Amino acid sequence: MSRKLFPFLLFILIFTNCKKDKVYAVPKELQPYIDSFIAEAKARGINLVIDDLVIIYEKNLNVNGVDAAGVCTFSKKDPHTIKLDTTSGNWQNSLSSREQLIFHELGHCVLNREHTDIKFASDNYKSIMKPTGEQLYGPVAALYKRSYYLDELFNESIPAPSWSNIESPYTTVYSRMALFTENFDDNSNNWVIGNSTNTIRTIENGIFSFKSLNNGNYIFDRNLEIDQTKDFEIEMGLKFISLGGFAALFYGGSNVSNLFNFYLDKNGNLNLGSLLTGFEYGQTGIAVINGQFNKITYRKIGSNCFFYVNGKYLEKQNFIPFYGNKIGIGIGAGPAEINVDYFKVDYLE
Ligand SMILES: [Zn+2]
Repeated sequence: MSRKLFPFLLFILIFTNCKKDKVYAVPKELQPYIDSFIAEAKARGINLVIDDLVIIYEKNLNVNGVDAAGVCTFSKKDPHTIKLDTTSGNWQNSLSSREQLIFHELGHCVLNREHTDIKFASDNYKSIMKPTGEQLYGPVAALYKRSYYLDELFNESIPAPSWSNIESPYTTVYSRMALFTENFDDNSNNWVIGNSTNTIRTIENGIFSFKSLNNGNYIFDRNLEIDQTKDFEIEMGLKFISLGGFAALFYGGSNVSNLFNFYLDKNGNLNLGSLLTGFEYGQTGIAVINGQFNKITYRKIGSNCFFYVNGKYLEKQNFIPFYGNKIGIGIGAGPAEINVDYFKVDYLE
């Protein structure tokens, strides 16, 4: 489901002092991104002329032994050239992630910006010019961050945004009212368990075991009506058993194509989004504790929602009203195996 996100690379070649002629060769379907980049600069008082740029597609892009989604190269002899890997997740996940890839490379090739890996207290990157490939803003729920990242792209010294701070730490104390509590002591809640061609699902000794037998994406779901006018939390305890695959907490859909997904894998790679709205946000390097249960938490508070792993704040997004009442647990990119020791929904006050 989630394609691999590759780092962005800058590769400057300085070979010679020869003068060169300007070359402009951009595939016509990419011209709207160039026009948008120029318009975003102009809206910020910067008049850009882009007349020396070559963009080419390259599959399985690899720069000095490192897989990359994009690379910018230039020298005094060669034109400013961007290579884009259309097989990368950065290209394929959504038009928003594609824009971020192209704007990042234009940051190098047009604005002469270099990488910065500065992060805010919220662990959001300061700049679209970060060296790694995770998605920073999304098409809907995390669209609100786009304007900041474009402001910063054209002016590195702008002030940090409000969401650079952790607005809703996990430790905030709420009084709770349980809506649904599942400890997997038995199957009195009538989940669909058993063996199928693709999965093996068991509930035994306080553990739900979910195995996928191939690389498909599968869900363990139920319908639960949640009053969305209230604040609430969905949480589960998750242990990765297999080396590969990802797990997901999902919610708010009427079917698989509009479920909201909170994906995580054993290596600490996170993706948030849905098939309907597209990918909204990615993060790597999350401290997943292997061999133990990890606390995966989604909270809707007011008009926002917040995501946490083991009580660590990950992300704030705008709350989008649910499309349906399906909630549950997902597995994918297997064969894979996960264990879940509880799954619960509480109203928070
Ligand atoms: Zn780069």
